[in-house]
Amino acid sequence: MTFLVFIGAPGSGKGTQAQSLAAEHPDRFVHISTGQLLRDALVEGTPHALYLKNLMESGKLIPDEEIFTVLEDKLKSIKASHLVILDGFPRTLNQALLLSDFAKNTGKHVEKVVYFDIADAELVNRLAGRFMCADCGAVYHKHHNRPLQDGVCDLCGSKNFQVRNDDNEDVIAKRLGIYHAETKPLVSYYEAQGVLLRLDAAQSVDSIKKTLLKEIKLVAAE
Ligand code: AMP
Repeated sequence: MTFLVFIGAPGSGKGTQAQSLAAEHPDRFVHISTGQLLRDALVEGTPHALYLKNLMESGKLIPDEEIFTVLEDKLKSIKASHLVILDGFPRTLNQALLLSDFAKNTGKHVEKVVYFDIADAELVNRLAGRFMCADCGAVYHKHHNRPLQDGVCDLCGSKNFQVRNDDNEDVIAKRLGIYHAETKPLVSYYEAQGVLLRLDAAQSVDSIKKTLLKEIKLVAAE
């Protein structure tokens, strides 16, 4: 199993690209969003789910070991031949080390780390227009990335949409602060390992997709 890691601030478009690659090449890519795995787990309504919900809705990170266990569990159901796009993991240096140890111990590897580079001011704009499918978690934007048919999810056909509870002004500021403090250092960490691909994430969804496909063609063809 090979990992393609997508890192970038909330709203940088990594989920949109991961979702699109996996939908168009389901035999090759699997998209794993740790945020979505958590949102799926919240429906259980247990006291622990409530604790996670509170952390997420206040923009804080879930403890490293816990999110890693959630991810590890999900990976058990993925075929070894798939290229796994990790969207939202790792988010801290410690998570990157957990991933690296896991890969070493299980004969897997991180092929590329795609960094979605974009200014904070643009992110705030984007997060303000974001909405998602309430059933499968597919991500949309009211201006930049609407469903092909208005009101119908491209991926699962659902007509239920919602705005994330953590996409409000106060929580967005908190999430961006945590991103700069905890996640951004991963850019130089992976750059030093020679696996970083820096993308200008201020481009349109389609042009980012073109660049991404060109850059990862070699990875995808293996
Ligand atoms: P996302 O959908 O990637 O924006 O994630 C939503 C929320 O889930 C984050 O704000 C965190 O509270 C939590 N979360 C997702 N991935 C991670 C992670 N790798 N480490 C810690 N918390 C995470």
